[in-house]
Amino acid sequence: MNNKKHEGFLVILSGPSGSGKDTILTELEKRNFDIQVSISNTTRKARDWEINGFHYNFVSPEEFESGINSGYFLEYAKYGSNYYGTPRGPINTWIQEGKIVFLKIDVQGARRIRAEYPGVVSIFLMPPTFGALRDRLHNRESEDEADIASRLEIAANEIECSKDYDYIVVNDVVNYAVSDICAILQAEQLRAERMARTVEDIINIK
Ligand code: 5GP
Repeated sequence: MNNKKHEGFLVILSGPSGSGKDTILTELEKRNFDIQVSISNTTRKARDWEINGFHYNFVSPEEFESGINSGYFLEYAKYGSNYYGTPRGPINTWIQEGKIVFLKIDVQGARRIRAEYPGVVSIFLMPPTFGALRDRLHNRESEDEADIASRLEIAANEIECSKDYDYIVVNDVVNYAVSDICAILQAEQLRAERMARTVEDIINIK
């Protein structure tokens, strides 16, 4: 019987646009982890397949700015010409409930979260090659040429920042990348500081 009591923790998942973060998270949710993905607010327009309240909360610039002023966001950043932000919402409650809380955020947001949550686990999802990233952005047909060019320019800077992350996972084959992330989560769950409650139970039930 597995009687371990896992502590919740926060995981940052960053990676260039087109690196496959959404696909990876969808696959991860099918594995045996208690995962909660935080839904960000953005001023970007929804893509054809995106659902408001599921992929993002799509809001107006005015609404976003009033959120900034009222302290609604744990962190926010401007990526290209749009705002993206993580609502504070129930993040701390989820962690206390023992969930692994994923923030799918860019390198600027990651920097802010690291400063606020020293125990955060950060993973950078790396495309196998720059050419593969370019192909993925073209193939999904959700951005125009100017937007793709801007995303590739940002990607080059993001890849430079990958050295600041705890882990780098190369997303060449989705299943392998998901398995790599599962291995990271499993090891992180077993860190001594996250096993304190399990140890306490073992001491108390003699
Ligand atoms: P996209 O427009 O491709 O959905 O997202 C563009 C970038 O914004 C991606 O790197 C994505 O991870 C990042 N992003 C999405 N939500 C947030 C957020 O709440 N905060 C920050 N800092 N970045 C975010």
